[in-house]
Amino acid sequence: MATDQESEKGSDKEWQNSLTAEQFYVLRQKGTEAPFTGKYNDFHQKGFFVCAACGNSLFSSDDKYDSGSGWPSFTKPVDSANIDTRQDTSHNMLRTEALCTKCGSHLGHVFEDGPGELGQRWCINSVSLEFMPKSPSEEET
Ligand SMILES: [Zn+2]
Repeated sequence: MATDQESEKGSDKEWQNSLTAEQFYVLRQKGTEAPFTGKYNDFHQKGFFVCAACGNSLFSSDDKYDSGSGWPSFTKPVDSANIDTRQDTSHNMLRTEALCTKCGSHLGHVFEDGPGELGQRWCINSVSLEFMPKSPSEEET
């Protein structure tokens, strides 16, 4: 039998078992999905977007807007405590990376050219997100 030294929770092997290949590439290897291909780019249902890896609540459809970038874009997170940001200097660019605080998965990047009151554009990969429709009791109108 093969020895398995990576049985620890959160190891690459575990992630590979619980995520699709594309999710693993984006969430755990900081990849980026091709623009205009993600399932949530042109998506207008009301609800919440949670982390595809751990279910942490990340964004609300109320803050989603069409930035034209080809990726789902938001003006702010549901709760800033749920998303970590850190400086990312990969690809010879200075960017701000967005990560899930709960599982450390890569979500996308934050740019300072957004339309909201904070002026932020949260540019997030669709594969990093899972959509949760609001229950009817939460509808205000
Ligand atoms: Zn997560």
